Amino acid sequence: MPIFYRPRLVPDLPAFPRQLLLSHDGELACRCGNMPHIEGFAYAAADGTVLDEPTDDWEAGLYHCSNPACGIYIDCRDPQR
Ligand SMILES: [Zn+2]
Repeated sequence: MPIFYRPRLVPDLPAFPRQLLLSHDGELACRCGNMPHIEGFAYAAADGTVLDEPTDDWEAGLYHCSNPACGIYIDCRDPQR
């Protein structure tokens, strides 16, 4: 199953270029090199808020890169849904 990467611009996040994610052996890999076993990824709300844990209305596919030097907001929801 393909993973869709749609970086989105979200206010209040660092003015770091939103970069596409890369898929590496089926794992998410941020443009900055972050992967789940390195800094990891946080859950994000649709408005870009970082969540400590997924809430009931969390939309699968919304993440925030946990690399402090990066911090992009990642939208890899399936656009076909
Ligand atoms: Zn990153």
